[in-house]
Amino acid sequence: MLTVVPTPIGNRQDITLRAIEALQASDLVAAEDTRHSGMLLAHLGIKKPFVSLHAHNESSRCGELLDRMASGLHVALVSDAGMPGISDPGHRLIRACVDRGLPITVLPGPCAVVTALVGSGFPSDRFYFGGFLPVKSGRRVSELTAALERRETSIFYESPHRIVKTLAALEGISPRREVCVARELSKTFEEYLRGMPHELLAKFSSKPPKGEITLLIRGSGRETEEE
Ligand code: SAM
Repeated sequence: MLTVVPTPIGNRQDITLRAIEALQASDLVAAEDTRHSGMLLAHLGIKKPFVSLHAHNESSRCGELLDRMASGLHVALVSDAGMPGISDPGHRLIRACVDRGLPITVLPGPCAVVTALVGSGFPSDRFYFGGFLPVKSGRRVSELTAALERRETSIFYESPHRIVKTLAALEGISPRREVCVARELSKTFEEYLRGMPHELLAKFSSKPPKGEITLLIRGSGRETEEE
């Protein structure tokens, strides 16, 4: 069987009791980065054999892992941080288990997109998650334009190296739309910076942002029409 085990997105205390139990009960841990996850398991006092499962070998690894699970092995799937399969490897293995009729359990747990949405204070009844914003500027602008047209909150993972350019692009397309930069969630320097793009740009001109960033763009829904 396969157990999908979310791991902390910054604060090690966020590992759940069920996640610890599942790791302890597993025969094999499939990990995006075996060294990184090895440190987490060592911190938890758990010793297990690892197999690497990352973006470049997920397809080729699936067959071997499926055969082992079919013969009774219990595999725990982890990624470097948060929920496997969410902008992280995992989907192909999960799909392969579904196709082969092998049992899967997904443990609820840390995930940056949901944490950022709730903390942003933006409407959370509906949302769009676009994963990582494209690196190429043309595709990035199309993605941002589509986000600004959406009625619901849009959420993207973004690099600290590109966030200033992204905010400048948003300022160019729609200067009166509120955005939120959710940074370093669950870590010491966690912060939610909310405001119009030019307000955040002014903040970042003296102190460029560092660390892990999730960007939220408020939707054009009724709640925002008064703006
Ligand atoms: N699987 C993860 C999840 O469930 O959220 C996401 C993995 S994705 C490779 C990593 C990206 O998620 C980061 O580049 C950043 O955009 C976002 N992220 C991860 N941890 C974060 C944190 N602590 N604060 C803000 N954003 C975070």
